[in-house]
Amino acid sequence: MKKKLVLASGNQGKIREIQAMFSEYEVVGYKTLGFDFEIEENGSTFYENALIKAKTISDILKLPVIADDSGLCVDALDGAPGIYSARYAGDGDDEHNNQLLLKNLENKENRNASFVCCMVYYDGGKILSANGKTDGKILFEKQGENGFGYDPLFFSFDINKCFGLATAEEKNKVSHRFRAVSELKRIMKEEGLL
Ligand code: IMP
Repeated sequence: MKKKLVLASGNQGKIREIQAMFSEYEVVGYKTLGFDFEIEENGSTFYENALIKAKTISDILKLPVIADDSGLCVDALDGAPGIYSARYAGDGDDEHNNQLLLKNLENKENRNASFVCCMVYYDGGKILSANGKTDGKILFEKQGENGFGYDPLFFSFDINKCFGLATAEEKNKVSHRFRAVSELKRIMKEEGLL
């Protein structure tokens, strides 16, 4: 039986992706452990938010926890929605977020954007962290229904395809989350934790 690694996220899309990357463990979202509260993310950077999530859950469970904070940073919008990506349109609805993004880019020529991710490991003492980024541009309309969040509007320069049309395997090879997880795993190995 695999050892459990708690992930401080309730986002099923993320849990699925991170499980595929941490095959050494059974990755368990904190909500499946009976918690039904939302973690308040009041940090001002991806790192601060990821650490808040990991600490909140680790302090309750007294177990090692990993957490990510991620988002879409659009060049022509000075990095927005950034850390506010999940609630860009105010209600946490992916469709509304995507519509607002298209509206805010209507008069912009430069549609370049990046997904960024910070992954943190916290075990009550040690804090490890790693960042990942993937570049692309925002399309004029949605393509495909794969992935989650802004994926149907994000054309990846790495795979020359919209993430909304990519298979999970295609996306997971180049994604910001994959890159952050790979780096975190490298550091965890160095620390003898993997
Ligand atoms: P978090 O749960 O606070 O990290 O919010 C991340 C938000 O950024 C998600 O709700 C999505 O809106 C967006 N996001 C992060 N990663 C991805 C991705 O891989 N694809 C699409 N949207 C993403």
